[in-house]
Amino acid sequence: MTGDKIDKKMKVIKTIKIDVDKCNGCRACEVICSAFHAAPKYSSNNPARSRIRIIRDPLRDIYVPVYAGEYTVAECAGRDKYTIDGKEYDECSFCRASCPSRDEFKEPDSGLPLKCDMCEGEDEPLCVKWCLADALTLETREEEEPDEQGEQEDMEIGLESLADKYGLQTIMDSLARMSEKD
Ligand code: SF4
Ligand code: SF4
Repeated sequence: MTGDKIDKKMKVIKTIKIDVDKCNGCRACEVICSAFHAAPKYSSNNPARSRIRIIRDPLRDIYVPVYAGEYTVAECAGRDKYTIDGKEYDECSFCRASCPSRDEFKEPDSGLPLKCDMCEGEDEPLCVKWCLADALTLETREEEEPDEQGEQEDMEIGLESLADKYGLQTIMDSLARMSEKD
């Protein structure tokens, strides 16, 4: 191992493995996620504010948990189709992005994008804890920390995109609400 490697800081990456076959569509994950992110915490629950949504087709017993991912300024060009148990779904059904072409993963009042934060501050993501069917499993791995300059640039690009789309005041109001949560 080189000296350069020894100096690198490591960080723990958390991911959630989804077993679609075990999901029964109970939506407990949506309830606890929205309650955890309510302001103040646990004061209300509304699945429309959840960072995990269940794509449901109860008549065919199909339930697919989808986590909120990155915000995107423009809709993508992908229009693939998926066929599951004979039913056709379009690509957007399972997409994780908060995107201009649909309403999923947007805060209902402000329209600001929602993104899974792995229940920051909790030992275990609450959706994993509340999923009694074991459809969601926390997995962890270690990765080298990115350098600070790269992180700063990524953050600035993300903030600029949000400010362009929603206006600086909306972003600041939202940050103020988030800081009141705890
Ligand atoms: S809590 Fe588990 S079983 Fe229930 S909808 Fe969510 S992922 Fe599916
Ligand atoms: S990990 Fe936390 S923030 Fe992410 S979807 Fe699950 S409950 Fe919501």
